[in-house]
Amino acid sequence: MALLEVSDLHAHYGAIEALKGISLTVEDGDVVTLIGSNGAGKSTTLRCISGLTPPSGGSLTFAGQDLTRVAPHEIVTRGIALSPEGRRCFSRMTVRENLDLGAYRRRGPAIAADLERVFTLFPRLKERESQRAGTMSGGEQQMLAIGRALMASPRLLLLDEPSLGIAPVLVDRIYQTISEIHSLGMAILLVEQNANRALDAASRGYVLETGRIALADRTSSLQRDPRVQEAYLGT
Ligand code: ATP
Repeated sequence: MALLEVSDLHAHYGAIEALKGISLTVEDGDVVTLIGSNGAGKSTTLRCISGLTPPSGGSLTFAGQDLTRVAPHEIVTRGIALSPEGRRCFSRMTVRENLDLGAYRRRGPAIAADLERVFTLFPRLKERESQRAGTMSGGEQQMLAIGRALMASPRLLLLDEPSLGIAPVLVDRIYQTISEIHSLGMAILLVEQNANRALDAASRGYVLETGRIALADRTSSLQRDPRVQEAYLGT
């Protein structure tokens, strides 16, 4: 059984059906990507997995347990943390306070070790520890959002568009960090419009089109698929 199993997931916003039966899996320790154009339903998929948008149908299983009607804070405790699109840092709070919030459900000495790990992955956050998050650059806030999710010590990290609106040099840094996080043994579900980057970083990928999975394969195969090349890779 995979670490995360999403089966026939449906989600609605009022009358709009954003997800029309999504099925996907993430194995323990694996990096899986979900690519697709604007409005395909990528963020909604991550919001359903994190409990922020209740699904209208289908099921979610994590580490063999049903997640379908579990509250968002309990989902964090079970081992899933989301780094949301648009970063969503608490802008009036400092970098350190934002990171501490990521660990608010936890107790014990492991928190200090995780803080050190985040500072090793993102030395910029250590330098800016007492700076207000709202005064950081877009790329720095993206690092902070990922760092805050890591402070929950998840088994599965959900990353929503980590490269969106960020200078290329910082995108390199963030993708290097994604590979470092993977080497620590964490599973990652990576949502991106930047398909080139995401397919390089992941071992398996899903292409989402208007709320449905259009393609699912190893990323090496998706990168060679003419439909993916034409629609998502600009080749
Ligand atoms: P993007 O890359 O542009 O963020 P996405 O693939 O993440 O797109 P979603 O944000 O999941 O797509 O949106 C899927 C569909 O659901 C879209 O048609 C969108 O307009 C709609 N939608 C998303 N959030 C809401 C909301 N809060 N209220 C109404 N409709 C919504």
